[in-house]
Amino acid sequence: MKIALTDLPYSPNALEPYISAKTLKFHHGKHLQTYINNTNKLLEDEKYSDYHTMTDILLNAEGVLYNNAAQVWNHNFYFFSFSPKGGNGPSPDSLLYKAICDQWETIEAFQETFVAQGVSLFGSGWVWLCQNKDGFLEILQTKNGDTPLTNGKIPLLTFDVWEHAYYLDYQNDRKKHLSNLWNIVDWRIVEKRYVSN
Ligand code: MN
Repeated sequence: MKIALTDLPYSPNALEPYISAKTLKFHHGKHLQTYINNTNKLLEDEKYSDYHTMTDILLNAEGVLYNNAAQVWNHNFYFFSFSPKGGNGPSPDSLLYKAICDQWETIEAFQETFVAQGVSLFGSGWVWLCQNKDGFLEILQTKNGDTPLTNGKIPLLTFDVWEHAYYLDYQNDRKKHLSNLWNIVDWRIVEKRYVSN
């Protein structure tokens, strides 16, 4: 199998001023492209010929192949969570809205907790809103390239906490970067990922 770079679903300047065109061009065109190139190079090895899908890799691979492939998956999921029409918030009549309020009382409290988890992640990684096997929502951190799919969770939303995601625009202010992302999260997309039970 071979992985190709997926085009962004918006123009590079569409998420400004929250993510600059410069950051997006580096993040998508250089960082994600490198993870793709690394994954494809590793997959040339015959010992991986049983892997036919990204899921095969994420559930079975280890080490450098897992790290690179998981980074490809995480980045595509991340880039496809935003839209210039974002910042809309969950629909008050959606099941996801109800589930978030059942757990965190308000959307604002959820967002604060989510950002705090991103800020407190030591080093590089990701912060996620996931649905666990029992259907309940949870916020969790993953280190480096780890993806919650490997642990049987359903990801609904993620923010990239690697410095390459924000350093050009925000330097060391990770909290400001993460807080600003709420202005571009497209909740219509997040709602579609939520599995109602
Ligand atoms: Mn990244």
